[in-house]
Amino acid sequence: MQFSKTITNKYLFLVSVLGFLTFIALYDFNIHSNIEWVIIIALAGAILLLNHYPILLPPKGNSLSMDSSIFLASLFLYGLDITLAVLLINSILFAVTQRKIVWWKHIFNFSSYILMIVSSYYVFNLTGGTIGSIDINNFIPYLISLITYFAMNVIFVGLFFILAAAESFESVFKELIKEALSPYMSTLMLSLVLVILMKAERLFGLFLFTCIAFLLSLAFKQHFHLFKEIYEKANKDFLTGLNNHGYFKEILEKEVTAAKENDQPLCVVLLDIDDFKKYNDLYGHIQGDHLLQEFGSLIKTAAEPENFIVARYGGEEFSIIMPNTTRQKAHLFMNELRKKTNDTYYKGVERLPYGCLSFSAGIAECEKETYNTSELLNKADQAMYAAKDQGKNLVQIYNQYSEYSAQRSLSLEKELEEAEQQLRIFLSKDVYTYRHSKRVYQYALDFSRLLSLSDYERKTLILGALIHDIGKIEIPRDILNKKGKLEPHEWEMMKKHVTWGKEIISTNKKLEDLIPLVELHHERFDGNGYPYGLKGKSIPKLARILCVIDSFDAMTTERPYQKTKTFKEAIVELRDCSGKQFDPQFVEPFIAMINQLDDTNFILEDDGMVVYS
Ligand code: GH3
Ligand code: MG
Ligand code: MG
Repeated sequence: MQFSKTITNKYLFLVSVLGFLTFIALYDFNIHSNIEWVIIIALAGAILLLNHYPILLPPKGNSLSMDSSIFLASLFLYGLDITLAVLLINSILFAVTQRKIVWWKHIFNFSSYILMIVSSYYVFNLTGGTIGSIDINNFIPYLISLITYFAMNVIFVGLFFILAAAESFESVFKELIKEALSPYMSTLMLSLVLVILMKAERLFGLFLFTCIAFLLSLAFKQHFHLFKEIYEKANKDFLTGLNNHGYFKEILEKEVTAAKENDQPLCVVLLDIDDFKKYNDLYGHIQGDHLLQEFGSLIKTAAEPENFIVARYGGEEFSIIMPNTTRQKAHLFMNELRKKTNDTYYKGVERLPYGCLSFSAGIAECEKETYNTSELLNKADQAMYAAKDQGKNLVQIYNQYSEYSAQRSLSLEKELEEAEQQLRIFLSKDVYTYRHSKRVYQYALDFSRLLSLSDYERKTLILGALIHDIGKIEIPRDILNKKGKLEPHEWEMMKKHVTWGKEIISTNKKLEDLIPLVELHHERFDGNGYPYGLKGKSIPKLARILCVIDSFDAMTTERPYQKTKTFKEAIVELRDCSGKQFDPQFVEPFIAMINQLDDTNFILEDDGMVVYS
């Protein structure tokens, strides 16, 4: 939601007028003895100093001034009048010393402080606090007064951000409270320490407090700079100064989440310099390093105006995150970058095969059904290798229907054999699930031939079908084999098999691509499934397909807790649930396949394998 500038201005004007009127109504202009003036000037001076030396907080370097400790201490010790005088003198001094800040900000600040101080004062009085004494009986009024001061501040600042920066109400207040609550409340609590100090020794107490706050500010400043330095080092690649691999992954995670939430396109690019080994061999590693540095800054310069994020992925590979960018736009950009790289002269590149520096790149666009960042990177990687295969110096967009080189995807036969063996051992106590898995696998094998799937998707579906219920090994036998209905807590446990399954196969890097199938095959198209309640296309396609197959087999074979349906009844059920439980686009093709199967004779062998005769 974008608020117009006039509404922001009206808000600033309203707070300013309200603050000023309150000040005029409540401030008594003609009192103050000499000694009071000394205190007022001393307090205002201390605030000015502390405003100049704030406490810097990591990670963003937001600064926190201790001025509020002094305002509140003054309020608790001397009441409203003197505190307003301190604020007035301080604001005048501040406006004179900080002329770079626009005038309306000075006015807004002054007015919001008035409203914060005045509300805290009245709340303190109303809850039974007594001005001038430091007393344990005042504890509750102190606390409520501090909370009021904090709340008013959060509201004033928060509203400004909501109106001026068009941020959402929830995110602004969450952020403010998360970041400010603890440090801010501690400065407010310190006001009570200052009250005690000033009660014992008025000016010396204030002097001591200011010195400590000043030294704290210096210490925090050093600490903050150290933090920044280490943060940079931890996230940057030392050779090229670009983001490093780890930080790239962190940013990618955030960007992918944001793109999905806001329904915006996002592309990720992996690029690899061509024949870099040859360059190293010709000129040595030091010159190779130079080339990496220069090429790094070339990409950075090209990416900056577009707000793309560049990283050194590793060795001579680089990666680019392109938020809010479609694959077509990414392709255009990458081709321009490729041309620029070819046209830029780097020392010695004339002896490379193309006579110039070149790279091969793969682009993958994040889609609704993209399961995680590894899948996205995997796609970009496959596309990049396809570019290499086609002769290098090329940019390739990932296309799910392309057959990428076989050794880079799962080698089906070997994997199947291994998975089948593991499954047989794992599920020895649960013959039902073992047989069910093998039937689902057989259906997947057949069904995948009818769908237009890439080679990679077909393999993933078949292997995923075989292994999808592996998590059931964690479920106790008595629940697995229970006759009759499961109790609610037993159902809850049964549902956990998808999460347990994911955990089990996550331990094997080779099976990483099967995670979405194992974890998400009980998600429903209408969003009422588990474990996440994902809806429609946000469920990966293969998981939506497996859901149809898995459910069909579950309906038509005997389960301890459910009656068997005939194929005909199960087909009616599939149609009934099309669009609810199942993605409609896969229901009819699957039914067509089943009808065909039904016409053929098939028998179930002892180990549950479906065999056609
Ligand atoms: P291709 O076109 O297929 O990508 O061939 P290539 O020679 O670029 O790729 P290959 O993977 O065979 O070799 C990459 C080389 O990059 C090998 C390695 O020594 C070099 N390399 C990796 N990191 C650095 C580095 O930080 N500095 C230097 N100078 N060389 C590096
Ligand atoms: Mg490489
Ligand atoms: Mg290379």
